[in-house]
Amino acid sequence: MVSDADVLEVTRQLGRPARGILEVAARCVCGRPVVVKTTPRLEDGTPFPTLFYLTQTAATAAVSTLEASGFMVEMQQRLAEDDQIRAGYLLAHRSYLAERDQIEVVPELNDFSAGGMPIRVKCLHALVAHSLAKGEGSNPIGDLALEALDWSIKVCSCN
Ligand SMILES: [Zn+2]
Repeated sequence: MVSDADVLEVTRQLGRPARGILEVAARCVCGRPVVVKTTPRLEDGTPFPTLFYLTQTAATAAVSTLEASGFMVEMQQRLAEDDQIRAGYLLAHRSYLAERDQIEVVPELNDFSAGGMPIRVKCLHALVAHSLAKGEGSNPIGDLALEALDWSIKVCSCN
């Protein structure tokens, strides 16, 4: 369950009403939400593939900066060359789908997870959110992005 205070804070972070939050999946050291876990189908019936959603303003801004830096091309290359990363990314994709299906199986979403998994690197926000929610080792590209980020969950940068 998620508290009213958390929903209000996420609404403030996003600048629009937060929808479909099931729980806070990662928190800042100050206690505010950084990643929320969302329902695979919103109240109005819309399928919502992104199970883990990065909400903290400083985090989303830092990830956007990293995305604009050419890091995604670099990661796409690593994925092509590194068997271990590729295997880990496939496992991340499967565990993402499994966890989402535990909440609700949404046929429209089929085999679609998030962030470009399992073969593309398309949205670092989704991959970083996955790593933060499930911990280091759960998403190799998300982990690498976290290392490269000019941001840390261990330092409060809530604003
Ligand atoms: Zn904070």
